[in-house]
Amino acid sequence: MLLPAHAYVRPGSLDDCLIALREAGDAGQIVAGGTDVIFNMRLKLFRPETVISVRKLRELQDIEPLPDGGVRIGAACRLHDLTEHPLLNGRWPAFTDAIRQLASRHVRNMGTLGGNICLKTRCWYTNNSAQWRAGRAGCFKTDGQLCHVIKSSDKCHAINNADTPVILIALGATLTIRKVGAERQLPIVDLYHDDGLHNLALDVDELVTHVTIPPVDDRTVYVKQAARKGIDFAIGSVAARCNGAGEWAGKVTLVLGSVSTAPIVLKEPAAIIESSGLTDEAIERACDAVRDELGEVTNLYSRAGYKKQVARVLVRRALQRLREM
Ligand SMILES: Cc1cc2nc3c(=O)[nH]c(=O)nc-3n(C[C@H](O)[C@H](O)[C@H](O)COP(=O)(O)OP(=O)(O)OC[C@H]3O[C@@H](n4cnc5c(N)ncnc54)[C@H](O)[C@@H]3O)c2cc1C
Ligand code: SF4
Repeated sequence: MLLPAHAYVRPGSLDDCLIALREAGDAGQIVAGGTDVIFNMRLKLFRPETVISVRKLRELQDIEPLPDGGVRIGAACRLHDLTEHPLLNGRWPAFTDAIRQLASRHVRNMGTLGGNICLKTRCWYTNNSAQWRAGRAGCFKTDGQLCHVIKSSDKCHAINNADTPVILIALGATLTIRKVGAERQLPIVDLYHDDGLHNLALDVDELVTHVTIPPVDDRTVYVKQAARKGIDFAIGSVAARCNGAGEWAGKVTLVLGSVSTAPIVLKEPAAIIESSGLTDEAIERACDAVRDELGEVTNLYSRAGYKKQVARVLVRRALQRLREM
């Protein structure tokens, strides 16, 4: 499958990159490791006129400890390098554990943190070759007026399948986002929209340059369910965090990934554990609350009922692991 015709730009500095992004506008596409972009260009799902590479930008490569005990990570850091980093492994082990569960060593060698955070939503219909798609009418994502997954829907329900957003939300990470003449900080939880077409709160000329993780002493885990251990996207994933020890647990955070268009912060299950602790009985009540809080779930990639069951099981595993830490 050939790549669609495009211009390739590799700016030598961050400032030049931001200018290139502004000039390319809607027709531009950032590429970092390219593990997703290039594949989707071959599928003719992405058809950028200009591809702008950020992979080698010096300003986006560092892992910098902060005076408050946090860390600032350049968006173009390779995923594999993060898993080998002593500071990250020592202070945020659930973060590097989540990355180790992502794809395969080959993909992690190429893929970057920024690329994973900014991964576009996926769907069995659109993430297929142009020839395969040609056998069906276009959908909202491919210039059509319908959704093949939920026929009655007026919007796209494609799935956010990325691993790192889920754990980074639980860790309270913040993104640094830049464009020409402006910089803003955005809690990563606010990056994701419940809209498969426009799932990221990013303008076309904006670039995620860094990820800041605050100091975290709490117990934290990431659990993922996939068809195979290596290479596959998640069917569901959960990041869980709390303070305390044993069954005693305060400040509980539960984040669910890969079942919907944006990661979901589960409120009621977390509140149950905060008030009752990590007892077997409270964990079961929290799991029951997961089903209620999820409401309608799309049947994309697996049946909605199965996804709810996966979510419930993953929450149980995550909470039991927190109790053992
Ligand atoms: C076989 C296979 C298995 C995979 N399994 C998984 C998996 O289990 N879990 C998972 O999470 N992912 C998986 N992926 C998807 C992908 O490889 C990873 O998400 C990877 O981290 C993407 O990083 P990248 O640098 O290659 O991104 P790219 O492909 O370069 O870019 C991805 C998206 O992010 C945008 N982007 C990149 N950098 C920035 C930035 N700094 N600011 C703003 N936008 C940016 C790009 O424009 C593009 O839309 C898999 C891919 C393959 C091919
Ligand atoms: S969820 Fe529907 S609109 Fe979105 S990509 Fe899939 S078929 Fe298209």
